[in-house]
Amino acid sequence: MVKSEAVHKSFGAIEVLKGIDLEVQQGEVFCLVGPSGSGKSTFLRCINHLEKINAGRLYVDGQLVGYRQKGDKLYELKEREVAAQRKDIGMVFQRFNLFPHMTALQNVMEAPMQVKGESRANARERAEKLLERVGLSDRKGNYPAQLSGGQQQRVAIARALAMEPKLMLFDEPTSALDPELVGEVLDVMRDLAESGMTMVVVTHEMGFAREVGDSLVFMDGGVVVESGNPRDVLNNPQHERTKSFLSKVL
Ligand code: ADP
Ligand code: MG
Repeated sequence: MVKSEAVHKSFGAIEVLKGIDLEVQQGEVFCLVGPSGSGKSTFLRCINHLEKINAGRLYVDGQLVGYRQKGDKLYELKEREVAAQRKDIGMVFQRFNLFPHMTALQNVMEAPMQVKGESRANARERAEKLLERVGLSDRKGNYPAQLSGGQQQRVAIARALAMEPKLMLFDEPTSALDPELVGEVLDVMRDLAESGMTMVVVTHEMGFAREVGDSLVFMDGGVVVESGNPRDVLNNPQHERTKSFLSKVL
């Protein structure tokens, strides 16, 4: 579902991704962990067209992200083609980024109507089902300010799912939450994983990584230091940098 070959990304003179190689299989929960500043968010943003890579190749579902290849030349995709690629990818951020002037239900209905031209009736029907799935049927008329952080994040997940993505990206989805609200969001993510969704999850929740993750990559300084089955990497890290990081978060 995702293939990254020697992906490089710089901001000015600062190289943030220094050759990332990894593969995410369909249906997999792929956990990305590492210290602050290691490039995790930048990598997710490259997958989702929010940043352009400087070198290497990045594929989602077999398609080159943002480019078309002819022979050995690359051509940038047009805006419309980029939009078509992006609508298959859902993203959930640390800060929930809901539209503040819309209710939970309107937040979930918005993208399918605006981006896919879906009818209001269809969008509403799916939004109601999704809010039920994340346990918020009784909150659909509430505005974000009337919801807890955990509830807002569950609305954000429902909103991303409303576009029927084939890949979901989560960037520290529970880091901004009070500790007692983390579990309800992780439960929704666990359900989603069980439904077969392909998920790339940046997280410091090692319990989640261990129980739900199929693969885990430890990144530091813009490179993949270590990867494998989450249980193996967490129980028996091979590199000093991994050991040192895990001793701080476990
Ligand atoms: P992580 O998510 O692992 O904490 P990030 O991908 O957010 O790391 O950031 C990696 C590095 O890239 C940091 O040093 C950060 O300051 C830098 N960086 C991220 N985005 C930008 C940007 N738009 N412009 C300049 N530097 C950036
Ligand atoms: Mg980050």
